[in-house]
Formats: sequence, structure tokens, C-alpha cells
Amino acid sequence: MDQPVSRGFDPRVVKRQFPGLSAPDLRYLDNAATAQVPEAVLAALRGFEIEARGNVHGTPHRRSRAAQAAYDGARAEIAGYLGVPPQEVVFTYGTTFGINLLAGALAERLGPADRVVVSRLEHHSNLLPWQKLARRRGVRLSAIPITPEGRLDLDRLDEVVRADTRLIAVTHCSNVTGAETEVARILEVARAVGARVLLDGAQRAPHGPLDLPALGVDFYALSGHKMYGPTGIGVLWGRSEALAELPPFTVGGQMVRSVTMESATFADPPGRFEAGTPPLAGAVGLGAAARWLGKLDWSAVQAHERRLTGHAIAGLQALPGVRVLGPHDLERRGPVVSFVAEGVDSLALCLRLDEDGLALRAGHHCAQPLHAALGVAGSARASFALYNDEDEVDALLLGVDRALHELRS
Ligand code: PMP
Repeated sequence: MDQPVSRGFDPRVVKRQFPGLSAPDLRYLDNAATAQVPEAVLAALRGFEIEARGNVHGTPHRRSRAAQAAYDGARAEIAGYLGVPPQEVVFTYGTTFGINLLAGALAERLGPADRVVVSRLEHHSNLLPWQKLARRRGVRLSAIPITPEGRLDLDRLDEVVRADTRLIAVTHCSNVTGAETEVARILEVARAVGARVLLDGAQRAPHGPLDLPALGVDFYALSGHKMYGPTGIGVLWGRSEALAELPPFTVGGQMVRSVTMESATFADPPGRFEAGTPPLAGAVGLGAAARWLGKLDWSAVQAHERRLTGHAIAGLQALPGVRVLGPHDLERRGPVVSFVAEGVDSLALCLRLDEDGLALRAGHHCAQPLHAALGVAGSARASFALYNDEDEVDALLLGVDRALHELRS
């Protein structure tokens, strides 16, 4: 079922494993929004639906057992990619749901004496759930400021993180500036006040296996569809002791020990957080994606993605009136390149680029406060995946140059 991925790395060879990229005139550069899906994942989805479709949780027939084995196997695969035990992996519907799950569970634990710290860099998914918690429960909310180049301003952490801080919830990698968070510095301050740490890993998880216990955080949220898996599936990882102290967020079938007409007792994690029939095919697809990703030579892939990012930043910065948002150096920086062009609306620019087969995103990318801090309303964004190549970056640079001439004339 799986296709071999050779040691070393050739993006053109890998690209052939992605049927969605077979159109010769498509240059797909919107991977931070969602990535394409390899044959290995498509085969796993089809295999599950045909050979193992049943419901999980104790139905005593062979199809149910096959479904349970596939679901458990998928949990083990993604756990392996994250370097954690399977029982610490909670399947969700994506990063947004995972963060809402954590905020919803914490709503039963936190109140006006408590503080959650986010940052100015956040996707709305890691801001609005905490705003809701502040509104509903009176929890205080503060934000770590950013530097002019769009990194967390960690020199000002002490101004924001106080003794009442229970959680620091920040992105691992920005979906606008590409800045990667220096996790060790966040942890140092968090540990000093006894706060837990959540990383929004939506933009980091697709770019190489993780060792979450070594990273040292308590919670990690990710989306399957950004890491070459299906939509509608994601993970909230939590350390065993951190998950154990949380009540469920959604309640219903399949997550209980016993129920009376008045009350219920709940299963241990991860089941406690997975009410209802889970997105089974999605989980199986994400497991297949994790298995596929696990076979890649990541030092080669990361070097390749860094080269594309450097090439795009340098080429865009060289165009008249173009400003690349975010750090221009490649140290601790993901393959996301957002930019603005003087006198040209980013939506008009991206619509024009689409005519050349260049797929980029335009707008505020669900990060309005971040764009406001950078002094712009929105931006155009190219974001790279392992199957992109230098020719596509050249086509991007040529396309932007041409489009700007046309739109400015
Ligand atoms: N956080 C970040 C940093 C993201 O880039 C995204 C997706 N754009 C999300 C959260 C939300 O992910 P999803 O829509 O898959 O829930």
C-alpha cells in the first residue's frame, strides 16, 4: 500500500506521489492553509472504508474489531511522529477544535483569579477561545508583544507572565510571519510561576517529526490536513498528568464509565475527550500520513524547504515596493512567506496570480491583530511544502513581478 520514499530527497519524485498535483499548470503554494494528499493516504482511506468500516468501542463483530484496530493503529502512528505514548493523543477535528477543547475544559477550573497568556502573533484559533473564557469566566487575558520583524518579544515576557498565570498558549510557528517560537524561554518563565504551556503546532507539525516530551510543553494542537492528511481530523496532545486533571469538553456516547438519569462518570483520557463516533477514516488517513512522513529524510527535506523560503524572501524583497513580513533570516523560521506590495491590494494580486496557475492566499489569514501590529490590513502569502521546487519559486517571482506591473499601470 505504501510507496517507498527514498533516502536523500528529490521534490519532483515525491510530487509524483500526489495525484492532486498532476495538473502541469498548477503551482500550489497555499500549503499553510492546507496541503495536498499523497497516494499512501488515499489508499489508507479507501482501504478503511472498504475493509474495516464499522464503529469502534466494543461492538462484538469482526468489522467493529477491524475498525477498532485501525483506529488504535492510527493513534499509535501519530503518537510515534510526536514522540509520545498513544494514550496521550486525543483525536480532535483540527487545531481549532483542540484549542476549544482545552479552553472549554479549563472553563470548569479557571476564574477571575487566573490568567491565560497568549501572544500578538496568534491565529484567531488560539485567541478567540481564550477571549471566550475571559468573557464567560472572568479569566484575565494578556498578550506577549511582538518585535517589528514579527517574532515574539521574549525580552518582555516578564511584563506579561505574572504569578496568577495558569496557561501560556502560543504558536509554535506563525502562519503569517513564519517565526518559530523559542520554546525553552517560554518554559523557563512558565515553570517559574507554575503555568502550563500549550503550543499551537498547526504550522510546525507538517515540517518534521517532533519529540514533544523533550520540547517540554504540556499541550500541543495540530491539524491533519496541513500535514498531508485528511480534513476534519487533528490531535490535541497532553501530558498524562495534564490530561488527567481536565474534565471533558464534549459529552455523550462512548466516553463514559457509567451513567444514571442524574449523573455520569467519565472514562480515562483519551476516551474522556472523544465523545461520539470519532472521525474514523480521518484518523486512519492521519495515521497513514504520519507513517509516510516518518519515512522521509528530514534533514534533507528541511534544508530543501529552507532553500525555497530563502529564495522567495530574497526574490520578493528585490521587487520594487514589495515588503516581506516576518524575519528575513532563516534561523527559526518556517516556510511561510507573507508580503505586501505598495499600491496593490493583496486579493487583486492573488487573483491575477491564479490566472498563471499560482495558488496563493490573500487577506488577514485569520490573524487580524498581528496584521494590525505590523501596520497592514492584510497580505499575500506563499507557503511551501516538501513537493514544491525552485522552478515554482522562480515562477512565483516572475508572476508577482508581471502582475505588479500590470496592476500598477
Ligand atoms: N493555528 C494556526 C497557526 C494555523 O495556521 C491554523 C490554520 N490556518 C489554525 C490554527 C487552525 O487550523 P484548523 O483550521 O485546521 O483548525
